[in-house]
This record gives sequence, C-alpha cells and structure tokens, in this order.
Amino acid sequence: MLVVRGRRIVFPDGERPASLHIERGVFSEVRAFDAVGDTSDAEFVDAGDLVVMPGLVDSHVHINEPGRTDWEGFDTATRAAAAGGITTIVDMPLNSIPATTDVEALEVKRAAARGRCHVDVAFWGGIVPGNADAIAPLANAGVRGFKCFLTPSGVDEFQSVGEDDLRRALPVLARATQGRLPLLVHAEDPRLLCDADGDPRSYITFLATRPPAAEVAAIELIAALTAEYHVATHIVHVSSSAGLDVVSKARTRGLTVTAETCPHYLTFVADRIQDGATAFKCAPPIRGSGDRDALWQGLRSGVCRLVASDHSPAPPAMKAVGSGDFLAAWGGIASLEVSLAAVWTGASTRGFLPADVARWMSEMPAGLAGLGATKGAIRSGCDADLVIWDPDMRWDVKGERLQQRHKLTPYDGMTLRGAVRATYLRGERIWDHRGLVASSRGHLL
Ligand SMILES: [Zn+2]
Repeated sequence: MLVVRGRRIVFPDGERPASLHIERGVFSEVRAFDAVGDTSDAEFVDAGDLVVMPGLVDSHVHINEPGRTDWEGFDTATRAAAAGGITTIVDMPLNSIPATTDVEALEVKRAAARGRCHVDVAFWGGIVPGNADAIAPLANAGVRGFKCFLTPSGVDEFQSVGEDDLRRALPVLARATQGRLPLLVHAEDPRLLCDADGDPRSYITFLATRPPAAEVAAIELIAALTAEYHVATHIVHVSSSAGLDVVSKARTRGLTVTAETCPHYLTFVADRIQDGATAFKCAPPIRGSGDRDALWQGLRSGVCRLVASDHSPAPPAMKAVGSGDFLAAWGGIASLEVSLAAVWTGASTRGFLPADVARWMSEMPAGLAGLGATKGAIRSGCDADLVIWDPDMRWDVKGERLQQRHKLTPYDGMTLRGAVRATYLRGERIWDHRGLVASSRGHLL
C-alpha cells in the first residue's frame, strides 16, 4: 500500500489538497489532505507543494523497433518517457520494420517489446493501400486505432493512402469497430506541396514546400469522409491556424473530428530557426508566431484537445547534421522527455494551470486511445500512474543527458520551466533523481 499526500493534486475537476490511497497498483481511495489514516503498513510520500498529476499519456510516439532500432527502441524510448513523467505511450505503426499493418507484424512488434518497456505501451495499427482486410483482425488483436498518411511517410514500407483507398478502408473500419476505434491522419495534401526553391540550409526554403493550404485541403477531405462513413477521425500534429479552423468548422457541424498539436509547434517559430539547424525539421513544419498563437487559442477553446510529442528521432547523419541541408534531412523531432516542461513553459506564461496540462497530456490522449477507464486520471479504480513535478523549477536542457537513443533535439540549450521529481507506474516509483529505479515494469496494453 502507498499513500501520496500533497497540497496540489490534480483531479479531472481541478487541483486540491488530498491524500491518495493506492493498493495493488490502483487508486483505492481519495481522502481529504489530513485524513491520511494509519500508514504504519504503507509507504508514505508527502509531495508538499509539488504538483501531483496523473502520469502523462503520449499518444504519438515512433519507437521504430524492430527494424530501425538504431533510430530509437523500446528500452531507450520508455526510459525517456519515465524520465519525462510519461507512464503510457502509444506507438505509431511506422517506422518499425515490419510496419504494423497486419496482425503478424503486430505480434513481431509485441515480441520485440515484451519485457523491455519501462512504462506501459499500446499500439496503433496502420492503414495503407490494400490492407483493408487487416483492419478487423488488427482491431480484434488489440490495436487502439489506426493511422494513415495522405502524403508520403518517408519510409517505403508505409505507403500513403488516397481518397480511393480511404473509401475502401473506412466502411470496413466503421463496421469492424462500430466507430469505436479512431482513424488518425497525417493530413497534408501531396498535390499542394511545393518544389523547393532557394538555399537548402535556410529553414524558410523548407517551410515554403509545405504550405498551410496542403493541411487545409487534407483536413477538408477527412471531414467530408468522416461525415460520409460515420467514423471518428483524429488529425495528428496540426501545425497551422488555417488547419485548426477547418477542424473547428467540422466540429461545429457535429462531426467526430478531433485534433492534436505538439510541443514544438507550441514552442518554436519559423523565423527564429537558424540556418542548418535541422533538429527543427518535421512535417508539417513549424510555422510563424500567428500559427503558434492560434494553436494555444485552440487548446483554450478545446478545438485542439490534446498535445502529443510526435517523438520521432533518427541518427544524426540522417538529420543531415553535417551539411545542415533541410531538404535532405529526416523530418522528425525528438522530444519525449522534455514535452511536459516544454508545454508548461509556454502554458504557464499564458495563464494556464497544471490541470489544463493534465487534460491535454493525460486525460484526452488516454481517451483517444480508448484507455480512459484505467489511464489518464487520478480517480478510484484507475491505475496509480503519477508524475510528481516542480512547476517553478527552471533547468537547462542538455541533449547528451537525455535518455533517448540519439541526443539531437531542438530543445538543446533551452531553459525550460517544470522539472519531474518522480514517476510512478501502478503505484511503484520507477523514476526519481537517481534515474530509473525500477526497470521493465511496463505492460503491453
Ligand atoms: Zn508522427
């Protein structure tokens, strides 16, 4: 038994002093701050004025194992998650080999993960041209939903889909899952991407190749298909004000379209990215301050309902670190471990509270992945996953100290606000100032 007492415990309805009673890995009872009771048989943790939140759920992580384990793997990714207060991650169906586009591939991935995860891991399946027959078996095998790309994904074994492919897949998805499992979409229309023109070391050259119009057109298509096939769709990593407007209009019409954004779109702006700084390359791209402001406003209004890292590292050579060529570099940002601090750094200066962060980064992503009954909230019966963190502490990000396999990150050298002090998984402390203190405790969900 574990009792965690604190003055700033974040519940679904806000923050208040309380004592949390944890038995056999789940919250058994929430009591008043002073009603700790007899703790002679229990481990007692007094969190004082630190924030106690449900462990974060990151619904957008590329672990890349098996097949591209030299990019990132289950050990290092889940270690980074534990360090960052993330207790559940949902793995994308690419860039592992095989991609998770049939049950056999899912089993290969689970075999690679088994016994090697330090936090809980769940899996998205993939929809690619020609695999509609795999949708129902993957759903039955436990994937939390499906991901597709409307624009080339960057890897050959995960082909992008067009409208015709989606018209074959969506009725199958709707029937197989009764609309229960969402379709996650990388929404850029390939016909509206532009050829590069200019210095390849200049970020602005890359930015111009992926205009907001491509995002707008793709989200409009997905909104139309959502209405037609009665499925739940989720637009991953929305980067632009115009893209979010399309989501907003669709939601006003009552369509089941949701959206996420990522810490990097909330943190950085295009005109401050230095020449050759390819750590910042991702798709869709980091845009201007007007877009960044609109994404924060979207979080405030609820049009953008969650924040996920899109952690997608690659070896430095693939990021074209030597040449600084944005057009040659792999698009993907590594940020799992810093995402709480990055989001809080921006959120705290805009009047948001830890309860907002818990909604965006625990409750909503748990719900997206169908894990809301056990994850993402401090509530009796839920898994006792916790992050205890100091919202006032500032610290300097040093890439080489991060747990991710490759240390390249655009946050290197930044001062962020908010530091994780301890992470608990099912009532067991797995991370604190000493590092990983309980290994391989993660379950495959
Ligand atoms: Zn991604």
